[in-house]
Amino acid sequence: MTAVPTIGVLALQGDVREHARALEAAGARTLDVRRPEELDQVDGLVLPGGESTTMWRLARSFDLLEPLRKRIEAGLPVYGSCAGMIMLADRIRDGVAGQETAGGIDMTVRRNAFGRQVDSFESDVVLTGMGDVPYHAVFIRAPWVESVGDAVEVLGRTAPVPEGGPNAGRIVAVRQGRLMATAFHPELTGDFRVHHYFADLVRRTTAEE
Ligand code: GLN
Repeated sequence: MTAVPTIGVLALQGDVREHARALEAAGARTLDVRRPEELDQVDGLVLPGGESTTMWRLARSFDLLEPLRKRIEAGLPVYGSCAGMIMLADRIRDGVAGQETAGGIDMTVRRNAFGRQVDSFESDVVLTGMGDVPYHAVFIRAPWVESVGDAVEVLGRTAPVPEGGPNAGRIVAVRQGRLMATAFHPELTGDFRVHHYFADLVRRTTAEE
């Protein structure tokens, strides 16, 4: 087992520094990834929050989209948060014309879904495999997952809240094999359980290979 895995953060755009800090707290070495050569060096990758349309366009112009798709197909562990969740979705709704993703998770994700009501939104989310204490999740112009295929494990949903409403009980954390995604931003709250979970997934993967 690689005690200290190297986990890249896609550094085209978005909150790269916060993820790097959280990953280091979870015992990983980090590397900013902007070029295919850097992608080749990592044991796992985080796709940060930001703006998925910009991330997609930059990934295209930096010639990273195809290499990223290939590494995902080859089994690279990848965690996507918010815009990064959109990047991992096989299907998106409310994307801009022609918007592409790297894909890999058999799910349909709706962009800016919570943002139809408010720009940001907070909810306590119980996350499977990450302890009993609910995660205080911060959503910023966040997507939600509208549907998942059979291979996808739902790790968390927004609280049902007594009054229900359009934001209640939405799928906001998923995993399919070595790929995982959250609609919220765990790098912002100081509670790094999601990063620990992902770093463990990367450690187990490198141990298997
Ligand atoms: N709304 C953004 C998008 O479509 C995601 C927002 C975020 O990552 N905080 O990419």
